[in-house]
Amino acid sequence: MIPVKPLPAQIPKWQQLWRDSLRDPLELLEILGLTAFSDRISVKSGDAFAFRVPRGFAAKMRHGDIHDPLLRQVLPLTEEESLTPGYSIDAVGDLTARGATGVLHKYRGRALLVATGSCAINCRYCFRRHFPYAEETAAAGQWQEAIDYLRNDASIHEVILSGGDPLSLATPKLAQLTDALKTMPQLKRLRLHTRLPVVLPERIDAGLLEWLSGLPWPVTVVIHANHGNELGPDVGDALQRLRQAGTTLLNQSVLLAGVNDDLAVLCRLSESLHAMGVLPYYLHQLDRVQGAAHFSVPQERAIALHRELMAALPGYLVPKLVRETAGEPNKSPLY
Ligand SMILES: *Cc1c(COP(=O)(O)O)cnc(C)c1O
Ligand code: SF4
Repeated sequence: MIPVKPLPAQIPKWQQLWRDSLRDPLELLEILGLTAFSDRISVKSGDAFAFRVPRGFAAKMRHGDIHDPLLRQVLPLTEEESLTPGYSIDAVGDLTARGATGVLHKYRGRALLVATGSCAINCRYCFRRHFPYAEETAAAGQWQEAIDYLRNDASIHEVILSGGDPLSLATPKLAQLTDALKTMPQLKRLRLHTRLPVVLPERIDAGLLEWLSGLPWPVTVVIHANHGNELGPDVGDALQRLRQAGTTLLNQSVLLAGVNDDLAVLCRLSESLHAMGVLPYYLHQLDRVQGAAHFSVPQERAIALHRELMAALPGYLVPKLVRETAGEPNKSPLY
């Protein structure tokens, strides 16, 4: 037997796995037996928005299939270089909704805290791929400005920890943040928007669960999966642990050409989520962000798919089809 090298005690296993992520698209193509497609990779785009994929997520991709729906979400293709009219770098008006450093306050009663700019995976369609994280995360201001802003607005009853991915912060950091939020008497609910339970399920470790179970507010965790193939048994286990810690689980997806713009794929996604104790929440029409146009699904097609989904599934397994429009008071239904 090969002796297993012991992990340094102070580094949680998930952080070790995160560090060990794939950082080179060509390496991923090689693992998948797809080196023949190397010329479709854009080095320029990979430099502008780094390639990063946990190995566990890559392991769920099909060998030898350049059309794999998980691969498509992470591969910096040359298509990203084409400038598309109508696509901008701040597609959803984030830079004008800034309440304080790291706070986006667009909707009544709830504010979003950009807790960190880091993610465990970099999704090519991400609407925040151009967000100036270096200056605009709450962590950059040591959270004080953000916490003061939240505390001084009596109308904010829900704080959404987002990012980036809030669960890419170490658990003691998260605890520091929620300790500060405990000084907000008006806070009724806490929400986390995170893709980590899906792309790095090892993140849902004992320390995280202990932190979650000790929070004084009802906690909703909105995960982010776009395709049923992302939901392996490891993800199912992580989600079960989150439920045992008392959180409510919802999922948001982005409708993506070549990934999930298909009735059977969307049905299977909803059914797999439900089997793992998660209800579908939103199906987002792609934000028109520069470099992501190759993921765009025309509005009529999106609506037609959604109607078919309604006819195929019980109502509670049909996510709301929405788009985010700068200046609107909520995410807007497409029809
Ligand atoms: C999407 C979003 C929310 C959450 O909206 P819900 O409809 O409550 O899920 C809150 N704040 C900001 C800035 C958002 O972009
Ligand atoms: S995990 Fe979420 S925030 Fe991070 S790159 Fe993917 S879509 Fe964007």
